[in-house]
Amino acid sequence: MSRAVAVVASLNVDHLVQAPRIPEPGETLMGFSASRELGGKGGNQAVAAARLGAEVAVIGCVGEDEDGDEYLEALRAEGADVTHVGRSASPTGRAAITVDEEGVNSIVVVSGANADIPAVVAEAAIRELPGLRVVAGQLEAAADATERAFAAARSRGVLTVLNTAPAGDVAWKLLPVSDVVVANEIEFRQLTGQDPFDDNGLRRGGAELFAAGCRWVIVTLGAGGCAVLDASSSAHVPAVAVRAVDTTAAGDSFVGALAARLAGIPGEPTTAEVVAACGFAAKVAAVVVTRHGAHPSLPTLAEVPGA
Ligand code: AMP
Repeated sequence: MSRAVAVVASLNVDHLVQAPRIPEPGETLMGFSASRELGGKGGNQAVAAARLGAEVAVIGCVGEDEDGDEYLEALRAEGADVTHVGRSASPTGRAAITVDEEGVNSIVVVSGANADIPAVVAEAAIRELPGLRVVAGQLEAAADATERAFAAARSRGVLTVLNTAPAGDVAWKLLPVSDVVVANEIEFRQLTGQDPFDDNGLRRGGAELFAAGCRWVIVTLGAGGCAVLDASSSAHVPAVAVRAVDTTAAGDSFVGALAARLAGIPGEPTTAEVVAACGFAAKVAAVVVTRHGAHPSLPTLAEVPGA
């Protein structure tokens, strides 16, 4: 295996409702439609990387319930290795998502089994997996498990990619063991207090993250593309111009694609290679925003124009 990616992953079932607007506190609204989908940032990232041709192992935890059975089956169908997905007495993670007429959403996530990933299992998985090149994680899965997995990856010379989503101070605990950090605009502001659209703010915020131990900072800016920083330089990667219909999983597909592309680079990537990987990730995310949903919107390599 030479393109192997492990994702320490949150695995959620999303319950979506569409309504004319997000209800006020205490208000009940009539909605238009309801659906149920597989999601969770980690699961989306793992499926994104697998569809793009990476060998993917998922490290996670689901409940001893039907949602858990369904998620495991879906990951197997994508060709992912689920040997390191445990089952716990907690229910499979769940998200309640309300989407308004403009496509703006409000989300409540209940971690459930995602909080039960044993740190020792995550660490052992990273030590054992053959041909591993990249380990990715986010802040929806158990932070201790992600930290131990990343530390084990570092000691093996495996690149670690932290997606700081959803925004939270627990990111600071993981930065010392993260090589590449991917933050969206809101997460960057929340972590550093700096404005990523301002060059000085971007540099100052980046410097704070580098001081915590990471080596590359990627700030995604929606339709504005992304900024890629190392300790001494910065580059801008534009988004691909498309007509977006649903930005669900745009950030997750970007992280999955980035991990898949970085896994194809033998040894340490150069900053130019990280920038090129972001260009690829932007092409993948551009396809995702033209489609509805999370897993259904994630493309195969053949479906990504110019990839
Ligand atoms: P975000 O998490 O919203 O910052 O988006 C992650 C990445 O998805 C961005 O860096 C873009 O490459 C891509 N993306 C998001 N929104 C759009 C859009 N409206 N059009 C094209 N690409 C987009």
